[in-house]
Amino acid sequence: MVINNPESPKGEPKNPAIHCARWVVPVDGPLLKDGAVVIHQGTILAVGEARKICRQYFGTMIDHGQGAILPALVNAHTHLEFSALHGRIRPTASLGEWLLAAMAGMAGLTTEQIRQGVRQGIEELKRYGTGLVAEVSNTGLSWSALVYSGLEFHYFFECLGFDQLNTGPLEEDFPFMAEAACDRNNLSAAAHAPYSVSAALFDRILDWNRRNGRPSGVHLAESQEEVKFLQHGEGFFRQLLESLGRWRHDFRPPGLSPVAYLDDLGYLKKRTVAAHGVWLTPEDRELLAARDVWLVLCPRSNRHTGTGFPDLPALWQAGVKLALGTDSLAGNADLNLFGEIMALLKAYPHFPPSELLTMATLNGAEALGRGSELGSITQGKKAALLFIPLRSGSNFWPDLLTAGAAGRMRWLTGPEGSFPFCHQEIAHVP
Ligand SMILES: [Zn+2]
Repeated sequence: MVINNPESPKGEPKNPAIHCARWVVPVDGPLLKDGAVVIHQGTILAVGEARKICRQYFGTMIDHGQGAILPALVNAHTHLEFSALHGRIRPTASLGEWLLAAMAGMAGLTTEQIRQGVRQGIEELKRYGTGLVAEVSNTGLSWSALVYSGLEFHYFFECLGFDQLNTGPLEEDFPFMAEAACDRNNLSAAAHAPYSVSAALFDRILDWNRRNGRPSGVHLAESQEEVKFLQHGEGFFRQLLESLGRWRHDFRPPGLSPVAYLDDLGYLKKRTVAAHGVWLTPEDRELLAARDVWLVLCPRSNRHTGTGFPDLPALWQAGVKLALGTDSLAGNADLNLFGEIMALLKAYPHFPPSELLTMATLNGAEALGRGSELGSITQGKKAALLFIPLRSGSNFWPDLLTAGAAGRMRWLTGPEGSFPFCHQEIAHVP
């Protein structure tokens, strides 16, 4: 139902849109029954109970009825470049098995097939309500598609080099960081993982991000193979490095857990965004919390790649800052973050569902340094809003999450229409 009431009191913006619904989920405040969100020129002007808002604001009122308005989701870890492998890699028993299948699969793709997959992945992100995404790429092939996608994104350019001992500027070996950097504060350097990046390269990545004020990315404590490699220098990753001609004979395993090793290298900082954290000791969890690191959980990917499942209650209890990511379509059924929420809820049915939604929205935005703009329905933030229809008299949280996981959602202001924060810049494609 749309009611036009364009008269506005002095000082108030002319004819803002007032979106009303049975429920509004601000995320950073209590759930609102019969709530309203006022937006004007792509910015949230106010949020509150509809009866109060309607006394205060005059404009075009759109009553969406039974259902919930919520902020756009934030997918804090994916690899769009693997999207063309969707459905082609079956769940594996170990990460090693999955990695070999993914590497073989990627080697068989043309650049155009990879780009086509990226475009399909972007469409899927939009369809499932993602407004901000963290893309992890080691080729840069997904950059220009994201620039023109209308999605907000943070780009982690992933550096690999177990045998990389150069100590010069990062751009010498990874020219993408020079070519794409041009004043874009949504580009970071990322380390692939402790088993694929030398200590010298970790240093250079951290240095680039520190100089440019950007978050640092890394895959961390994802598999048992990674733990074994850092303890003893043996196992799947040693064999892989040897077969790729990347093994270093002078390498001495640190004999530390992945978390303790990265802490030793000084890589665990407030602005570090680490993905996975499946294989952690209690001391590791304490260290992650003490260093104020963001940990992005990708539970369905962990199942698919045979690495295990994150211990959410233990992480929560330790005070680790948590966000959610889908990881790639080569290791997940879809890019719907509600799928991650449901997987965690199924494993930990007593965990508060509202906290899981916070991880999928506000926490992700904060992890990517965008918490002041996105992730919640808050005055002054960008208006990227979703609507999920619900039955009347529904059991709110279970029904909301089930509907979200089934993809029953639409944008109120977002990529499918008047997305208020489209990127217009010219892409720099190396
Ligand atoms: Zn990943």
